[in-house]
Amino acid sequence: MKVLVIGGGSREHALCWSLRQDPEVEKLYAAPGNAGTALHAENLPIAADDIDSLSLLAQELRPDLTVVGPEAPLCAGITDAFGRHGLSVFGPSARSARLEGSKVWTKDLAKRYGIPTAEARSFDDPREATSFSRGFPFPQVIKADGLASGKGVFIVTDFLEAQKAIASLMDRRLYGAAGQRILIEAFLEGVELSAFALFDANQYSLLGVAHDYKRIDDGDRGPNTGGMGAFLPSPFVSPALLRQIEESIFSRLHAACTGERLDYRGVLYAGLMITQDGPFLLEINVRLGDPEAQVLLPTLKTPLSEIAGATCRDELGQLHLLRHRRSVVGVVISSSGYPENPRLEDRIILSEAKAPASERQGLLFYGATKQTQGILRTSGGRVFTAVGWGDRLAEARKRAYEQVNAVTFPDMHFRKDIASFLAGRPVP
Ligand code: ATP
Repeated sequence: MKVLVIGGGSREHALCWSLRQDPEVEKLYAAPGNAGTALHAENLPIAADDIDSLSLLAQELRPDLTVVGPEAPLCAGITDAFGRHGLSVFGPSARSARLEGSKVWTKDLAKRYGIPTAEARSFDDPREATSFSRGFPFPQVIKADGLASGKGVFIVTDFLEAQKAIASLMDRRLYGAAGQRILIEAFLEGVELSAFALFDANQYSLLGVAHDYKRIDDGDRGPNTGGMGAFLPSPFVSPALLRQIEESIFSRLHAACTGERLDYRGVLYAGLMITQDGPFLLEINVRLGDPEAQVLLPTLKTPLSEIAGATCRDELGQLHLLRHRRSVVGVVISSSGYPENPRLEDRIILSEAKAPASERQGLLFYGATKQTQGILRTSGGRVFTAVGWGDRLAEARKRAYEQVNAVTFPDMHFRKDIASFLAGRPVP
């Protein structure tokens, strides 16, 4: 079969790597891809959010399956556009992608379907928001309604900070129309968890859970990023908690999708806070996470084309998902200046000798990289995800950091505490 992967980060390299293991996949394309996807696929220079050009391309290539990495093309309706030409996409329609595209809408949905979530109010008017904030307990979490690449969320500890956050989102429009409406919500204490499920029109199936690291520096310091590392399995999630996540989050979310006639088909990623009162929904993403995909995909034994095919055909009931029982750790290597102002065009040296000998133990997934005239260079913020796996977490961690040692470029940055500390405590 012919498969097209949309996106150009480490997640999409991991998707291409996974699809390359799949005996059903004969031809693989990536748009726009990167220097890593080029090792497995033919890269096509079309931006991931240029739906019109991608649609024309797909009519020409007629892929049997399209796998979409990032949220922007899903929210812009790539699944609907391809569907009009009879092309199958592993990822939800634009109407379903609103679950990620509008936090206000999703908060309302969660309340209506009894999904545990932080208490919150939404506002269109900055004056009303400010007056509500004055009387609401601190810390508060102030969120832009729309997509802001993970940067539209402010945790504020006093009224002055709250005023500034409201003004920057609503008056100064720091993230444009995304901040036209905002949510002010209660701060939840606990351990964060990324939980993934496959959704089709009839049912859901749990894919896995992972922890990710949002802040740039060790000890969860510095600004938020797209993600600086991830690992699984979680030592904090018992079988009882997993059942609770299924019952109070995924099963109700699936009921919500049915109730709203969303016909959601794809991966649904629930960002959770595990509190003393159980799991609470922080946000929904309508795709795999980056860097969570890089640790999740190496655990799947069942080929990705089979998983995607069953999801798109509403046949999740017949899918027997097989997994490797292994621990996986992913460490993101970022360029200097990330997340505010990543430096570009640095020359990258890869040393094969320092990396583990066998692909069975670890991999280097390329992110913002490009190859010009035989030279590999940085082309954005998150440059690689170094992944290692093994029977135990300590082994996986060691192998991930061995992969990090294989990379050299000026002022490269990575966290040293991935899978050893989480939310201020040692990982057992
Ligand atoms: P991303 O794009 O990174 O997934 P996002 O911009 O869609 O994030 P959220 O996931 O809702 O926004 O929030 C970003 C981060 O803010 C969360 O990962 C979490 O660390 C923190 N956060 C959000 N809501 C709360 C809350 N109610 N209580 C405590 N922390 C929160």
